[in-house]
Amino acid sequence: MDKDLSAPQSLEESLDPADWGRARALAHRMIDDAIDHLAGLRDGPAWREMPAEVRRALADPLPDQPQSPEVVYDDFLRLVRPYPMGNVHPRFFAWYMGGSNLTGALADFLAAIDGSNLGGGNNAPAQVDRQVTGWLRDLMGFPQGAGATLTSGGSVANLIGHAVMRNVRAGVDVRAKGVRAMAAPLRVYASDQVHSCHQKALEVLGLGAEALRLIPSGPDYRLDMAALAKALVEDRAAGWQPASVIGTAGTVNTGAIDDLAAIADFCHENGLWFHVDGCIGAFLRLSPGHAGMVAGMERADSLALDPHKWLHTPFEAGCALIRDGARQRQTFTLHPEYLEVQPRGVAGAEFLFDYGIDLTRGFKALKVWMALKEFGPTRHGRLVAQSIERSRYLAKAVEAAPDMALMAPQVVNITCFRYDPGGLDEAALKALNVEIMLRLQEEGIASPSDTQLHGRHSLRIAAVNHRTRRADMDLLLHETRRIGQAILQG
Ligand SMILES: *Cc1c(COP(=O)(O)O)cnc(C)c1O
Repeated sequence: MDKDLSAPQSLEESLDPADWGRARALAHRMIDDAIDHLAGLRDGPAWREMPAEVRRALADPLPDQPQSPEVVYDDFLRLVRPYPMGNVHPRFFAWYMGGSNLTGALADFLAAIDGSNLGGGNNAPAQVDRQVTGWLRDLMGFPQGAGATLTSGGSVANLIGHAVMRNVRAGVDVRAKGVRAMAAPLRVYASDQVHSCHQKALEVLGLGAEALRLIPSGPDYRLDMAALAKALVEDRAAGWQPASVIGTAGTVNTGAIDDLAAIADFCHENGLWFHVDGCIGAFLRLSPGHAGMVAGMERADSLALDPHKWLHTPFEAGCALIRDGARQRQTFTLHPEYLEVQPRGVAGAEFLFDYGIDLTRGFKALKVWMALKEFGPTRHGRLVAQSIERSRYLAKAVEAAPDMALMAPQVVNITCFRYDPGGLDEAALKALNVEIMLRLQEEGIASPSDTQLHGRHSLRIAAVNHRTRRADMDLLLHETRRIGQAILQG
C-alpha cells in the first residue's frame, strides 16, 4: 500500500488524485456497490442496531496518518452503510420522509463534481435552479411573479414565508428597526396540529412562541374555523395584531388537511396573510384524483413544500414559494461592495441569495431537476395515489381486525392505529404499543413511530416510500399482533 501518503507529491500539491486511473477504478466500485445495495434493499432489515465496536470506531479521534481512499471507503462499507436510519427501506414508516431515488443520488454526485456555488450569478447551474423552482411554482399553481427558493427543508421554507409575512405586516421597517419598533405584537393562527417548526420560526424571528395561537382541533384534526374567528376577535380586543393564518395541507400527526379554501376566504375578509404548510400534502396536486383535497392552496401568500418528502428527492431539498416575489426580495436582499451584480461576466445575473438566508448555496437543484425530467409529474402523481392506497389498505385491515383500533381518520398516506385486544387502560395500552414499536424496529421488521392524538397514544404509519407494497402492510399488521400477543403472554 501507499507508504508515503503524507509526503507532498510535488511542490504543486492539490487534492486531486495522484493516479486518475486508480481513482476511476474506486469510483466505479462505489457505483457498483451502491447499485447492489439499492437493488437488495428489500431483503435487508428495515433497521439494525450498531454493534458496540462500530459505535466505538465511530468515536475514534482523527487518525494521525492519512489513509488510502480504498481504506477509507472500506471503513464506510464496514461502519456506516449497514446502519442507516433506513428511510429508503420499503418498511420505514416513521415520521414523514421520502425514499430517495437513484437518479437524484447520481445527480447529487454530479452536482458535487460540478461544485458550483449557487449563491447565484451567470452560470448554467444557477439557471437550472431558477428553472426547477419555476417548475415547482407552476406545479403549485402560483403566478409567474412569485418568488421561489430551494431550501435545506420545510422548516427553513416555512421560516422564509413567516419572515416575509413579518416584514410586510410589521407596520415599520423591521429590517432597520427590529421587532421592538412594532406598534402591536403580531399574532399567527394555526390548529393545534401545526408542525413544531412554526413555533421555532416565530421564536427565531423575534416574535416569540406566544405569537402562535393554537386553535384546538376537533375529531377531524382540522383547523376549527368558528374557533378561529372567535380567537381573532378576542385577540384584537386584547391588543394583539392578527397577522397570519397557517393552513396545513397534511398534518404530521394524522395527515389531516385544513379547509384551505375557507382559510383563504377568511384571510381575504380579515386582511390576514395566508401561509400554507404543504410539506406533506402540496404534491397531492400532482394526482388528479387528489388535487381537490388541497384546493385553495394556490391562493396562499406563502407556501412551504418539501421535495425531499413526497417527491423523494435525496435529502436535503425544501422549497419556499412567495406569491409576491418582490416582497421576498425586499426581505432578504443585501449587497455589500464585494457582492455587486455586474452587466456581464460571472456576476452578470441576479443572485439567488437575494431570496433567502444562505449566501453559499449548493447545487441541490440538479437532483430535483433530473428526477423531475426523468419521472415527470404524471408518474409522481401516480406514486402519490399509490401511497394513499397503501394507507387506506392498512386502515381497512385495521378496521376489520377485532384486536386493532384505528385512532384517527385516514386521509392521505398516514394511518394511526394501535394494538388493543381489550381490557387495558390508556397507560397499559401506551406501554404495550411502545414496546411493540421498539421490537418491530429492533427485529428489523419495520420502523413505525408513535404520537399522542387528543391524549391517546397511537402508532403512526406514514407510507411515503415509493417501494412500499400491500404485502408490507400485511406483514406489519401480522407482526404487530404477534409481538403484542407475545408481550401480553409475558
Ligand atoms: C416535515 C415537516 C416540516 C418540516 O420540514 P423539514 O423538511 O423536516 O424541515 C414542516 N411541516 C410539516 C407538516 C412537515 O411534515
